[in-house]
This record gives sequence, structure tokens and C-alpha cells, in this order.
Amino acid sequence: MGTSFPKSKTLYIFSFLALFIASFSSHSQAFANETLAQCLIDHSQPSHPITSSIYTPTNSSFSFVLQSYIRNLRFNTSSTPKPALILTALHESHVQAAIICARKLSVEMKIRSGGHDYEGISYVSISLPFFILDMLNFRSVDVDIEAETAWVQAGATLGEVYYGIAATSKVHGFPAGVCPTVGVGGHFSGGGV
Ligand SMILES: Cc1cc2nc3c(=O)[nH]c(=O)nc-3n(C[C@H](O)[C@H](O)[C@H](O)COP(=O)(O)OP(=O)(O)OC[C@H]3O[C@@H](n4cnc5c(N)ncnc54)[C@H](O)[C@@H]3O)c2cc1C
Repeated sequence: MGTSFPKSKTLYIFSFLALFIASFSSHSQAFANETLAQCLIDHSQPSHPITSSIYTPTNSSFSFVLQSYIRNLRFNTSSTPKPALILTALHESHVQAAIICARKLSVEMKIRSGGHDYEGISYVSISLPFFILDMLNFRSVDVDIEAETAWVQAGATLGEVYYGIAATSKVHGFPAGVCPTVGVGGHFSGGGV
């Protein structure tokens, strides 16, 4: 009855559509990166510049920053969804800016401290675009032996906490994980085996 559509034409249209969709999604991803980066800059304090903490896929250090805290290599493949941006916050105001922009632009924010999440939850997402707030620069360990307390930042590792305490006291300690590179942020907030 109806005229059959030539196979080559169908193939041509499909290829064109696929190309169009691919180019559209890469453009919209680039747009998302730029909007997010601009939002972070707009919501940071000039006294604490944020620009040097922002890594987008066009930055030559992006892969290095992303991979250095991926502890489960199953999520370190070329097909693993990648964040639109990584923010290695240097100041508390950067964390505030990240939360404001995540809400404002409805972009999912992943928080990473030591990166030991077995399921990659701190650096992988199926909802795109997403970005990582990396706490690696927040790693101070202040021990007050008189008060028998320690003030520890989220990006410190368990090993750094043990070392900080051991450096100030021969009798004090803190029981957490065996693995010294597990992050305080993920362990203290409910991780741990
Ligand atoms: C190789 C390996 C060895 C391990 N060894 C031990 C061990 O010896 N003892 C033990 O008890 N456990 C161990 N674990 C488990 C570990 O405690 C948990 O996976 C823990 O959640 C990791 O914390 P993280 O900060 O390193 O991980 P991340 O991947 O950074 O974070 C884990 C989760 O916590 C969230 N999170 C991280 N930081 C913050 C923050 N600042 N605020 C809010 N949410 C945050 C992340 O979004 C993610 O959902 C090990 C895991 C691995 C992969």
C-alpha cells in the first residue's frame, strides 16, 4: 500500500538526529558548567576568591582532581558519569556558595571528604548535571588535651586524626576505622564498617 522509505534515508535521518542530540547535550552541559561556575563566583566573598577552587572539564587538572579521591576503581572508567564541576572549597564561604547555587540552579551536589564511599555516592550521580563539593582542603586537627577534645575538619583522614592526637598525648586516642585514608566527613556522619 504505502511507499516504503529507503533504508539509507532512514539511516541518514537517524544519524543526523543522533548527532543533533549529542551536540545539543554537550552544549547544554557546557552551558550548565558555565552557569554554575558563574553562580559560585557571584555568591562568593571577594575577600575569599573562589575561582582557583573551581575545576570544569576544560581545566587540565580536572581528571586529576576527580580521580585522586576515587577509592573504588569500579567508578573510575570512561563511562562513569562525570561531574559538571568540582569545587575544592578553601573557605567556609565557598561551601555556602555551593549550597546556594545547588538550590538556585537545581543541580545535585555531591559532598566528598575521603572518597571511600563503596558505591561512589560522593562522586557519581545518575542525575545530570551534578557537581562535587570536595572537602579535601578542610583537614585541620586541633587537639585540646586540657579539655580532652579535638576539633576536626571534614576533609581530614582518620590517620591524620590519630596522628594529631598521638602527637599531643601518649594516653589519649580516638576509636574509628583501621584504614587511615578514610575521611572524617563520611565516617563520622554515619559511614564506618
Ligand atoms: C578501601 C576502604 C577501606 C575502608 N576501611 C574502613 C575501616 O577501616 N573502618 C571503617 O570503619 N570503615 C572503613 N571503610 C568504610 C568507610 O568508613 C565509609 O565508606 C565512609 O563513609 C567513608 O568516608 P569518606 O569520607 O572517606 O567517604 P566519602 O566517599 O567522601 O563520603 C561517604 C559518604 O558521606 C558523605 N559525606 C562525606 N563527607 C561529608 C560531609 N562533610 N558532610 C556530609 N556528608 C558527607 C558523602 O556524600 C557520601 O555519601 C572503608 C571503605 C573503603 C572503600
